Amino acid sequence: MKAILVKQTGGPEVMELVELPVPEPKANEAVVRLAASGVNFIDVYHREGRYKVPLPFIPGQEGAGQVVAVGSDVKSVKIGDRVAWTTTLGSYAEYVAGAADRLVPIPAGVSDQQAAATMLQGMTAHYLAYDTYPLKRGETALVHAAAGGVGLLLVQLAHNIGARVIATVSTEDKAKLAREAGADEIILYSQVDFEAETKRLMGGKGVDVVYDSVGKTTFEKGLNVLRPRGMMVLFGGSSGAVPPFDPITLTQKGSLFLTRPSLGNYIATREELMVRSGAVFAMIASGKLKLRIEHTYPLAEAQRAHRELEGRKTTGKLLLIP
Ligand code: NDP
Repeated sequence: MKAILVKQTGGPEVMELVELPVPEPKANEAVVRLAASGVNFIDVYHREGRYKVPLPFIPGQEGAGQVVAVGSDVKSVKIGDRVAWTTTLGSYAEYVAGAADRLVPIPAGVSDQQAAATMLQGMTAHYLAYDTYPLKRGETALVHAAAGGVGLLLVQLAHNIGARVIATVSTEDKAKLAREAGADEIILYSQVDFEAETKRLMGGKGVDVVYDSVGKTTFEKGLNVLRPRGMMVLFGGSSGAVPPFDPITLTQKGSLFLTRPSLGNYIATREELMVRSGAVFAMIASGKLKLRIEHTYPLAEAQRAHRELEGRKTTGKLLLIP
């Protein structure tokens, strides 16, 4: 099979297209032939070595396809099932072997590409809006990088809940997409100071929650726009990692809450994985949640996909097609 292999960490050029044997399932595993693999910012962290993965490795931890083999203990899926997953490393390939209890069936009305585009970013937007800080109607959320993969989905969920959404983006084109997704206010944070602009839009009141995936360049100012006892949800570092931080700052800025969540902890059990993926798939099938899949690349062009994602050139979801 064809797969992308990383033998040493580094820039996009370390991802090589190679020929490898199709994996065999262990007793608890299923092997899936991929229809599409999702590209996510976490794949960049793995490739760079910011998050450690034993070398060599096949990157990618999201996809959808058809089960072609199962191990002797597998009960949850069978050969021929259409399934999707996240947190199974090795998805930039034609075939992947993974724990069968992490695979979820794709419902009718959701295509393979839609499923591959949903699992990581869709369930992330879902847990952020419904569980980490359960947004309520009438509250205000500041969403950074609002035209990104997670961003566009989070804006839609927050809007559907009835919250007011203040969105930051870097370009006019991205502003248009964030507005279409339901953002009430847009701040071009590449041109204006988002702290001053958020305070102006809020008339001196603070926002209830900041959803921050940008990290290094936004974190500190984000703390300054929260209401007393508001919540900073730092869930990524697309601009780099946030430097070490003294918790007393949270007291000084109004008894704030800070959390640094990860999807894995919100789909830890099979039950939670099924409930959350089912909820997001239902929203997609009904049209309540719209995916934007405009960046599809052949598997062989994984390097280009990473360059564009890191270069802030993409919006919505990126997929690799084997
Ligand atoms: P995005 O599609 O959001 O791409 C990243 C975006 O970040 C860019 O488009 C850009 O938007 C913005 N950005 C701001 N500064 C920079 C910079 N210096 N370099 C690159 N991008 C920058 O990616 P994803 O949706 O895949 O992921 C978004 C973030 O969410 C990532 O940090 C990821 O790690 C995190 N994440 C966390 C999860 C969790 O459970 N904790 C799960 C899923 C994702 P603009 O041009 O508008 O500024």
